[in-house]
Amino acid sequence: MDNLNGRISAWALTTFGKDFADCNAKEKYIALSKALMQDIVPRWQATEEKFEGRKRASYLSAEYLMGRALGNNLINLGQRQEVAEQLSAMGVDLNTVEQAEPDAGLGNGGLGRLAACFLDSAATHGYPLNGYGIRYEFGIFKQRFVEGFQVEEADNWLEYGDPWSIRRADEAVKISFADGDVTAIPYDTPIVGYGGETVNTLRLWKAEPLEPFDFEQFNLQNYDRAVKAKNNAETITKVLYPNDSNEKGKLLRLKQQYFFVSASLQDLLAKHKAAYGDFSRFAELNAIQLNDTHPAVAIPEMMRLLTSNEGLTWKEAWGLVTKTFAYTNHTILAEALETWDIKLYKKLLPAVYGVILKINEQLLRELKTMGVPLADVPKYEIIHDKRIRMAFLSIYGTFSTNGVAQLHTGLLINSELKDWYALYPERFNNKTNGITQRRWLLKANPELSAFITELLGSDRWITHLDELRKLEAYAEDPAVLERFLEIKQQKKYQLAAHIMEREGIEIDPHSIYDIQIKRLHEYKRQLMNAFQILDLYYRLKKDKNFKIVPRTFIFGAKAAPGYVRAKGIIKFIQEIKELVNGDPDMAGKLKVVFVENYDVSYGELLFPAADLSEQISTAGKEASGTGNMKFMLNGAPTIGTYDGANIEIVEEAGEENNFIFGLRVEEIEQIKATYKPSAEFRKAKGLKKVVDSLVDGTFSDGGTGMFKELHDALLLGADWHAPDVFMILKDFAAYREAQQKVNDAYLDRMAWAKKCWMNIAGAGKFSSDRTIKQYCEDIWKC
Ligand SMILES: *Cc1c(COP(=O)(O)O)cnc(C)c1O
Repeated sequence: MDNLNGRISAWALTTFGKDFADCNAKEKYIALSKALMQDIVPRWQATEEKFEGRKRASYLSAEYLMGRALGNNLINLGQRQEVAEQLSAMGVDLNTVEQAEPDAGLGNGGLGRLAACFLDSAATHGYPLNGYGIRYEFGIFKQRFVEGFQVEEADNWLEYGDPWSIRRADEAVKISFADGDVTAIPYDTPIVGYGGETVNTLRLWKAEPLEPFDFEQFNLQNYDRAVKAKNNAETITKVLYPNDSNEKGKLLRLKQQYFFVSASLQDLLAKHKAAYGDFSRFAELNAIQLNDTHPAVAIPEMMRLLTSNEGLTWKEAWGLVTKTFAYTNHTILAEALETWDIKLYKKLLPAVYGVILKINEQLLRELKTMGVPLADVPKYEIIHDKRIRMAFLSIYGTFSTNGVAQLHTGLLINSELKDWYALYPERFNNKTNGITQRRWLLKANPELSAFITELLGSDRWITHLDELRKLEAYAEDPAVLERFLEIKQQKKYQLAAHIMEREGIEIDPHSIYDIQIKRLHEYKRQLMNAFQILDLYYRLKKDKNFKIVPRTFIFGAKAAPGYVRAKGIIKFIQEIKELVNGDPDMAGKLKVVFVENYDVSYGELLFPAADLSEQISTAGKEASGTGNMKFMLNGAPTIGTYDGANIEIVEEAGEENNFIFGLRVEEIEQIKATYKPSAEFRKAKGLKKVVDSLVDGTFSDGGTGMFKELHDALLLGADWHAPDVFMILKDFAAYREAQQKVNDAYLDRMAWAKKCWMNIAGAGKFSSDRTIKQYCEDIWKC
């Protein structure tokens, strides 16, 4: 960076009123980032010019799980090395400065992280893709553990300001709700592609009142009333909803959805109109992707804007909408398919509700024309049982519906959405998810990255991940495998140091790091992992001759604050942790860690250090998974089920290089009607004892009744579900056996290294560069 010293000094002086040398790490981070923005903004402007007149895609997403930006931007600009050296000459450590940046945690998990990876890939490959979303003042909560229970704290990520975003008050738009109007203010963040040639935009909207405060009320000394409108408006973008937060706050959630969707559409329409005068070319120049159904209100809102504000006929507007919008489905969990009570819509968005009614009527007419029997019509109704089915609205109002892995898309077509598939088969397609190798290998694992570049004689893999296939040539090369193992060991030392510092737990860097990191959910089956660990503990206690390779089980997971059962599972794992780690007999054998506040930055340390990737969801429940891809790319074999992208992962890396077990989707379908969980106890060794531990006094849930509830959910069910719906007891024996195979396979060092290596060599398909290219070529045509 030219004149780094002068630039950061100027930023430190004018922002913090002191010399750079006197700034704390957070202030240094801001000053350095601002200095970097001086390089980024001109490139940003040039990109805007470059894309003028070209078709562009807009990604509408309620979540963006971005993580930190500084290190990533330095890498993508090709300046990290140079800046590190320049800072070092000033006695400043770049790593320390980078770590002072708070994670931008504007998402819950995989869905939000996917959006972030997509933005990186599009900018890297020069695609005009801009993101639209919400500028939550508080992102995903910070997790702490108090006596093994999860406690949530506000994530004040903007405390020191955000050096990356630019407030553009001149492009504010008005959003109208039945209970009043608010202003949407855009904040633009540059998305720097690798190589720095394309800089796209993430535009996040903040809600503000039309007037900052009510002067009249203030003069009357009604101070509360004077700022009431401000508070009401700002509440809209105050905080990210953790998923599974049930009924309460639903109205606010609907406000959030409509707020960012309407703002984004008004923005797109106004810019198009300014450039072209009318909307005849809008669909030719715009594609809009709906990331799940959270932004599905875009369909009726666009109809409303075009017909009421712009004077288009219904038919013209519908033609435009269905040529512009495309929809990505992320789940087939029935409880996760979004529906809205019509009462909420009528109350908050009456005009939009009117449009939805008309869309539904049009659908019913179309069904009739297509010859759909009257008896089948209810299967399609967008408004059904006084609720709006957002997935149906999304399929009907778009030209493309995609699933996120082959298995998932297959299930959509053949079961969950088969009626819709029968109607519009040409709309359905698959886009298997991916991850950006810039963050998840180049940034997170510079040691392995350098080795790969050395072997391939080129760093082309950074933008063309298929190059990794050439690494297969070294799969039997002892020198290469030794080097790989050395690097893995290095990453394991680094993680051990971090865990010591953050969690206060000493782990054995030569043990197997067996890692399960993902949102806490019953279908992801962290509980099955916990049972398996406890079973291993009992076996080790009972039989002094039972030998295992030392193992460190590492968990990282946030539970939605209202998801009581998920919180019970966290507490159960914490109790197992206390038992195992506190037992001197387990020294050198077993250790359990539950890292606090798993987020993107923690992930950057965990994925590269893993020896084993836990992907053990009930078959058919995990749409794709992307954590599985991050482990694979860093050379960790998967222990997992035939679910989501796991299937494609073993297709690429070889089933013999992974540990696949358990029931398949078809088998679950066959047995589920007659399944009796208690019968499993007689068959599966060790199972009864670990399940009983929930209720026999082995552990304490602090008198909350959580453990009894978990126990009963497995054996008796609950009023909303059958016993053990996620087949934990059914898959336990197969999982235990697969874990034994892992243990045995690890004993052969070179054979193990080969498995790891084959996973790296097969990871090319799972670059989000590939995914985004498919979206561009098959859906957006941009
Ligand atoms: C990748 C990622 C996820 C998604 O993990 P899955 O195992 O696919 O559910 C969730 N959270 C963070 C922080 C991630 O980086």
